Amino acid sequence: MTPQAAYDELVRRSRERSLLVSCIELLGWDELTYMPRGGVENRSRQMAYLAGLYHDAVTDPRQGELLSIVAASSLVDDPTGPAAVNLRGWRRVYERMSCQPKSLVEELARATTTAQQVWTTARQNESFAEFRPWLEQVLALVRQQGECLRSVGRIVNPSYADSIYDALMQDYEPGASVPQLEKLFSALRPELARLLDAIRGAKRRTSGAILRRDYPLDRQKIFGETVSAALGFDFDCGRLDTTTHPFFSPIGPGDSRVTTRYNQNDFGEAFFGLLHEVGHGLYEQGLEAEHYGTPLGESSSLGVHEALARLWENGVGRSLPFWRHFFPQARELFHQALHDVEAEEFYAAVNHVRPGVNRVRADEATYDLHILLRFELERALLSGDLAPTDLPGAWNEKYRDYLGVTPANDAEGCLQDGHWSAGQFGYFPTYTLGNIYAAQLLASARATLGDLSGQFACGQFATFNDWLRERLYRHGQRYPAAKLIENATGQPLDHRPLVEALRIKYGELYGI
Ligand code: ZN
Repeated sequence: MTPQAAYDELVRRSRERSLLVSCIELLGWDELTYMPRGGVENRSRQMAYLAGLYHDAVTDPRQGELLSIVAASSLVDDPTGPAAVNLRGWRRVYERMSCQPKSLVEELARATTTAQQVWTTARQNESFAEFRPWLEQVLALVRQQGECLRSVGRIVNPSYADSIYDALMQDYEPGASVPQLEKLFSALRPELARLLDAIRGAKRRTSGAILRRDYPLDRQKIFGETVSAALGFDFDCGRLDTTTHPFFSPIGPGDSRVTTRYNQNDFGEAFFGLLHEVGHGLYEQGLEAEHYGTPLGESSSLGVHEALARLWENGVGRSLPFWRHFFPQARELFHQALHDVEAEEFYAAVNHVRPGVNRVRADEATYDLHILLRFELERALLSGDLAPTDLPGAWNEKYRDYLGVTPANDAEGCLQDGHWSAGQFGYFPTYTLGNIYAAQLLASARATLGDLSGQFACGQFATFNDWLRERLYRHGQRYPAAKLIENATGQPLDHRPLVEALRIKYGELYGI
């Protein structure tokens, strides 16, 4: 078989797997939006069936042979050419999937399915003790998985320090390493702590009370759709629906779906949740359709995906120019709630800082502190330095230390996130990486696109979106995430633009 024929066969297989994933996505989207409760059993059978087909397709030994033929050929001479980019992506998935014994994969799937159910009830009962045995079991399996992955880790990042955590993290942020994150996060933490101290000591106070007035749901939906479309979200190639836990679902080219959750007495919940998901959606809508079904047409990493979401949610949606443009429309739609409010007041309300115990509800100033402490705790759990039984105590101590708050119970504390019950260790850092990438991107766009604030204040977002498409979206997985951001911004990975942006925003708002 010629290398070209092997490559063509790999592309065909890759496209076929993408169709399978697309069907899984669509069924998953339906399950969380419109499926009647009675459909649960049949849906889980459909999902398990398709997941089995996917696993077989990915680990097919023939896949390994084809990959070897292409790897040894001149097709991959140019490391940023389609063949080399796609080969790296395929090999990563193939090697990572095939190094894990099927028994381990099945056991992990079984354990995490139950662990997630137990976690839900344990959280309702505010009882970590109920969840602990399952956390122990998941941890033991994830450690085994990490050991397998460690053996193939060097393919992904030759320089990485080969801890289990490094190996696991490659599923979420290929190319990232613990030493790199430790350096970045240990520089970020004192800056965030200083900012929080200054806000706490500020004479000027803000309040989020305006956001808890009466916002009719049908009008929230109209406003959300209007803004999403103005930002560039294409409703001919996407939908907005309602769900309990908002998410974004990339069904395929021409079909990106966002969801949100409305609360009549909390404007921010649906609106900023929506902007976040629209940010994910704009990224997927900006990928190159001609490369669909291959790594070159797929998003780079979770961190980059999150960066785009946070960029539109916070960098754009929580900025004053944005509200200078949209506030008059909001006041007209929500006349009862906002007739006595000015744009500046509303802007202050959507940026109100209140250190709390909950990550998802955290404001921009404190959000990353929630992540940094999870990064420490999950590494300690994996290495065995922290026994699961000591997790609630360690969790609460970190919250006192980082944020000066103490969860009232385990539900508010170490049971608030579902990641660990799903076996996702190494996922959390991608949120803060996303914030760091987002700040770097915004700073660079400001430097190259002229008066970006002026454009936002006029409701013009197309130039910014085009800039992101040119420098980011269209590259798919051509570069590892950190390199992609470096190419886009001209700067290596750096926490300072994030610190600087927060300092400027909160400096003005709080007079500090
Ligand atoms: Zn997100």
